[in-house]
Amino acid sequence: MLYLVSTPIGNLQDITFRAVDTLKNCDLIAAEDTRHTRILCRHYDVQTPLTSYFEHNESKKTEQLLKHLKEGKSIALVTDAGTPGISDPGYRLIHLAQENDIPITVIPGACALIAALSLSGLPSHNFIFEGFLPVKSQARENKLAGFKDEIRTVIFYESPHRILKTLIGMEKVLDNPFVVCARELTKKFEEVIKGDSRQLIEHFTRHKPKGEFVLLLNRKKS
Ligand code: SAM
Repeated sequence: MLYLVSTPIGNLQDITFRAVDTLKNCDLIAAEDTRHTRILCRHYDVQTPLTSYFEHNESKKTEQLLKHLKEGKSIALVTDAGTPGISDPGYRLIHLAQENDIPITVIPGACALIAALSLSGLPSHNFIFEGFLPVKSQARENKLAGFKDEIRTVIFYESPHRILKTLIGMEKVLDNPFVVCARELTKKFEEVIKGDSRQLIEHFTRHKPKGEFVLLLNRKKS
């Protein structure tokens, strides 16, 4: 059995009983960063062996993990934070396991985009998740321009180094849209900053962006 186990996005308490039980009772934990997952395992007294499974060894490691699964071992797949496969490694293993008739189940839990959406106060009956925007400015602006007529809430993951550039791009190509910035969710400095893109540009010019961010935009509110 392959278990897709969601882990906390900050606060270590945000994990389900079933997730902890699964981590304790499986044969192997495949983790994006074993150092990171070790902290979680120590906290919950999980003694299961860990192996790394990250973007750059994904194709090689998938074969090894598949071999273990075919031998009847149970593996829990976890990433550094949140739900495996959501802007994180996992897709290849999940796909191959399905193709090889390996039973798979999910242990749902924290996911940054869902936490941000529910906290944002933006319309949530209908939304789009875009993951990370392209790094290059032109490609990012082209992508953003595609949301000119979008009335649904659009959600992005973004790094603190690129927040300002992204907001400037939004102001330029989307005519100063309404933006919600959800920062450091579930952590000590959790913060939700709302305003039009110009106000947020001003904010982050005065306060250097730090931590992890989810950006949400909704053009109906501008
Ligand atoms: N699989 C994860 C999930 O289910 O949310 C997402 C992994 S993605 C590589 C990491 C990105 O998620 C970060 O760069 C940030 O944009 C967002 N993120 C993760 N934890 C967060 C938090 N505590 N607060 C705000 N954003 C967070």
